[in-house]
Amino acid sequence: MQGRRNEEHGVAPSEPTLRIIMRRLRDIMAESGDGQSRLDKIVRHVAGVMVAEVCSIYLKRQDGSLELFATEGLNPQSVHTTRLKRGEGLVGRCAELGVPVNEPDAQKHPAYSYRPETGEEVYHSLLAVPILRSGQVLGVLVVQNHAYKQYSDDDVETLASTAMVVGEHLASGSVANWGADIEISRSLAAVIRGDVLSEGIALGHVVLHEPRIVVTKLMADDPALELRRLEGAIAELRAGLDEMLGHQQLASDGDHRDVLEAYRMFAHDRGWERRLREAVQSGLTAEAGVERVQNSARARMLRQADAYWAERQRDFDDLSDRLLRILAGRSSGSHLPVDMPSDTVLVARTMGPAELLDYDPAKLRGLVIEDGSPQSHVAIVAKALGIPAVGRAVAVVEHVSPGDGVIIDGETGEVHLRPLPDVVSAYSDKVRFRARRQQKYEALRDKKAITKDGRRIEVNINAGLLYDLQHMEESGADGIGLFRTELQFMVSHTFPRLERQAQSYRQVVEAAGGKPIVFRALDIGGDKVLPYLHAVKEENPAIGWRAIRMSLDRPALFRTQVRALLKATAGGELRLMVPMISTAAEMLTVKAMFDRELGLIRRKGLPSPERVKLGAMFEVPSLFFELDALLKTVDFLSIGSNDLLQFLFAADRTNARVANRYDPLSVAPLRALKMVADACRGHGVPVTVCGEMAGRPLEALALIALGFRSISMAPSCVGPMKAMVLSLDADLAAAEMERLLARGEKDMRGALLKFARKSGVDL
Ligand code: PEP
Ligand code: MG
Repeated sequence: MQGRRNEEHGVAPSEPTLRIIMRRLRDIMAESGDGQSRLDKIVRHVAGVMVAEVCSIYLKRQDGSLELFATEGLNPQSVHTTRLKRGEGLVGRCAELGVPVNEPDAQKHPAYSYRPETGEEVYHSLLAVPILRSGQVLGVLVVQNHAYKQYSDDDVETLASTAMVVGEHLASGSVANWGADIEISRSLAAVIRGDVLSEGIALGHVVLHEPRIVVTKLMADDPALELRRLEGAIAELRAGLDEMLGHQQLASDGDHRDVLEAYRMFAHDRGWERRLREAVQSGLTAEAGVERVQNSARARMLRQADAYWAERQRDFDDLSDRLLRILAGRSSGSHLPVDMPSDTVLVARTMGPAELLDYDPAKLRGLVIEDGSPQSHVAIVAKALGIPAVGRAVAVVEHVSPGDGVIIDGETGEVHLRPLPDVVSAYSDKVRFRARRQQKYEALRDKKAITKDGRRIEVNINAGLLYDLQHMEESGADGIGLFRTELQFMVSHTFPRLERQAQSYRQVVEAAGGKPIVFRALDIGGDKVLPYLHAVKEENPAIGWRAIRMSLDRPALFRTQVRALLKATAGGELRLMVPMISTAAEMLTVKAMFDRELGLIRRKGLPSPERVKLGAMFEVPSLFFELDALLKTVDFLSIGSNDLLQFLFAADRTNARVANRYDPLSVAPLRALKMVADACRGHGVPVTVCGEMAGRPLEALALIALGFRSISMAPSCVGPMKAMVLSLDADLAAAEMERLLARGEKDMRGALLKFARKSGVDL
């Protein structure tokens, strides 16, 4: 059919079919009219140029069925009437598998499904191609002929490229006013449900982290130029990979080396290159050609049951992304948007805490990721930034485009994509309501957190960056219970030297305005990576070379930090706590290192703090069995419940599948926590809880009932926490807790909730 002419279209006999179709499609898109009339024109035109008696477009509905949306050749009455169940017939099969179906005698095929209302019985041959966008099947484009014929490869290519343009057209929103619940409405308003990582409501616009390049220009003005651009980009891609593999750190042998070698080999794959060239030669721009080949590869990847081959297809997918970035003139590392909207909602498959900090916090409104759990560090950073975040938002990246409107509901975990005006207005109301509630909390700002029966509860904030400190003032917290010093290291591009560290700690001290601050020594490792500190890749980083373990092996690191802290707090008080202590002996070693630095400074007559307090974080369960020894070595203890619970339950806090499986409000962890509270009371050692559980009112109620009198939390939790404390009778809660623990209550959360309701606690 290649080169076949049609007088009606006034086409020169030698012009390739695809080019003719593309040119006309471009005109159709530019013409006025609604989505339906454009689809009608498309099928008429494609049928004409491909000399097919029938051309039809089926679109996928949310239930997976396919609806006939436009046809040239079939009975017009069947439009919007004929529906195929998911996977039904050859057309359904094409959509399900995401591959072309090319049948010379379709009616003889066992999967053929006869629809009398369409009048299709007279057509024998059928060619169906999926309408894809970003690897997602939106529908099927079909041509049919009377004659028994096998369509040529050129025909398949032509129809597939046409389908790609149709896919772009559908996703461009021109179907918005159709009101149908077709699958592509997922490119319109949609809701994805995930888990709340950080509370709050955000209205904003999508910025894709490591964004997909959106191909907007499909047809080449100058095909020869496009081919040269493609060739140039392929050469650059290959050179880049060669350079990457030659890089010192990667040059050594190992699994990563094999993976990268295979990856480089794929970049030289002849078949891949041929497909790319053919796509561009057919009249597409270089970008559209790459996307066209990528679409097919994605469809293959989705069908691939074998994990190894699926992974290989993913390599091709990734190579295509790289090619698109090269064609768009973006260097591989420059994932940060140049023009970040002032109401940015970041959407990403996954994100580390440092990556989030790369973005301008003044413009960040929220974060949506496909993985993550509330205890993961990226969630903690989101909370520190005061932005709502939702995790486990399945396939969200596939469902958004940069610039899409989005609302994050950090109460329910819902993410509204391209929300309709009434949803926007409902959420604007909600934001106003929250602001009013915030006012109520603001009224508590100058109130101390004292329970109804007179127990003073210290309510501190967790912080890690200078701008967190403004929240302390706003919330009326008692102080900073946990200052995560590593966050400053993470936002820096080089290792901060002593003077720079001292200066930033001094700023923290000044901003705290005399309120106490507990600095935490560096907690690097796990999911907290410093770009300039080349750590070895570990199988289990959370229980690997992290925090104090790293500091003990690299004493200069710890020493510099201690000196900087001593300098910054000169004349005042330094409270320092040490993360991931596992034995009392370890704490003694740290204490000796600390005392040596302090002694040195004092001997030299340099300014030093008047009071120092050195504490340990209780995060590793081995300490339960060494509590007495430990408590003799410390001035205070702080329970890092995030880590402690993950180790207690052997449930990775960053793995959303298991992180929420165990309830901190259950007998085992509560008994464990009580053991620590009792021991600290016995030794007269002050104790705090600073993990995420301390920021949740019901959990905090339980902690107070266990005997804790100091808790530390994200700044946004302080208001609700004060309201809870002010309405609580601590002794009553302690008695209830004793009862519940004694009887080994199975539904501890339910029972505590019941208690709170009954006794009028403001949760
Ligand atoms: C904790 O583990 O509870 C804690 C406060 O430390 P981080 O979350 O920074 O590991
Ligand atoms: Mg911890």
